[in-house]
Amino acid sequence: MFFILGAGHKSNEEYQLETISHCGHCNNDSKWMIGKVTHKASLFFVPLVPYKTEFITYCPICKNGHMISKGDFEWKLLESNN
Ligand SMILES: [Zn+2]
Repeated sequence: MFFILGAGHKSNEEYQLETISHCGHCNNDSKWMIGKVTHKASLFFVPLVPYKTEFITYCPICKNGHMISKGDFEWKLLESNN
């Protein structure tokens, strides 16, 4: 058997927050984005198994941001839906 394994697949979910945050990088006030990035391992170029999930928040203008915890992500998501 011959397998081709890969790990380069990513799927993104992104949401815009309702609250305004200040960005220390570009000095703008804007509604920041939160994102969930799922990394998937692939077999024969078909994405199969999610092996890592990252949660991020970032400035929509300059894309400066940082990682957040899953709890933070869910809380912010809930907050932006209200
Ligand atoms: Zn910025």
